[in-house]
Amino acid sequence: ATPTSIMVGTGRAAELGVLFRNGAALQALRDAKVVAFDKTGTLTDGRPTLTDFLTAAGFEPDAVLRLAASVEARSEHPIARSIVEAAGERGVSLLPVDRFEAVPGHGVEGSVGGQTIIVGARRHLDRYGIAMAGLAEAASRLEGEGKSPLYVAIDGRFAALVAVSDPIKAGAAEAVSALKAQGLVVAMVTGDARGAASGVAARLGIAEIVAEVLPGGKVEAVRDLRARFGPVAFVGDGINDAPALAEAEIGLAIGTGTDIAVESADVVLMSGALSGIVSAIGLSRAVMRNIT
Ligand code: ADP
Ligand code: MG
Repeated sequence: ATPTSIMVGTGRAAELGVLFRNGAALQALRDAKVVAFDKTGTLTDGRPTLTDFLTAAGFEPDAVLRLAASVEARSEHPIARSIVEAAGERGVSLLPVDRFEAVPGHGVEGSVGGQTIIVGARRHLDRYGIAMAGLAEAASRLEGEGKSPLYVAIDGRFAALVAVSDPIKAGAAEAVSALKAQGLVVAMVTGDARGAASGVAARLGIAEIVAEVLPGGKVEAVRDLRARFGPVAFVGDGINDAPALAEAEIGLAIGTGTDIAVESADVVLMSGALSGIVSAIGLSRAVMRNIT
């Protein structure tokens, strides 16, 4: 690889909004066999909105929403924001929170007026041994629609099933099919529920899905994909993507994502548009063909 052609290649990429942090990244990208995407904020907009709110028997919707939103107001997770916004739109006021704890990859727990409120993934409620009373069918139906289910418990009792929906990013489906046409295996790696992940993957034409991974599990997913297919390019935006971005042969961060993700990456997609990856791979192949 001549320094000049690498400079030309990375310069051309920069014009397309793809920032290579080093020349070696160009070669690593050419050699990738798998492109693994984080879901939330990478394949989707990362701005979920609350779409469904189903209470268990004996619970009143606005009362449950008030408690859930009060606790979520203390969390910075995009899901938390959607619940707080929904409360605002319904004119449901929030209550002071006495105790708050966020469990990464699971959800949150807090005390409001002497009541203990838990909001999060199904596995979050499982940790407390709280069984879901009814609504299991509704949960699978919502997942099938590509929505992410969340569960609310109050004082150890299942109180509500909530769904949030995060629109697929414009151009994501086109990028996935272009990558497949380039001969790459495309995978999705997410902490979200399996059904919701499959719903989104189906719309994008992604067959390889690793769902319900805990923070840290994304690194294992990269290793597993490498063992099965070869060198991995990982694309992500979040704090919990940073270890996987570092583990992959090449890490690509969404430029609008968190600082830690950007710092852990070899390549930065400035606008967040996924078409940048397709152009960057095309470019890496053209440049490396001329010089190796
Ligand atoms: P990802 O961004 O890949 O979905 P996270 O590790 O951030 O991964 O979250 C995994 C899952 O944990 C979420 O899909 C959600 O079910 C649950 N979760 C995490 N934080 C919260 C929160 N503040 N409120 C409700 N659920 C949460
Ligand atoms: Mg993300």
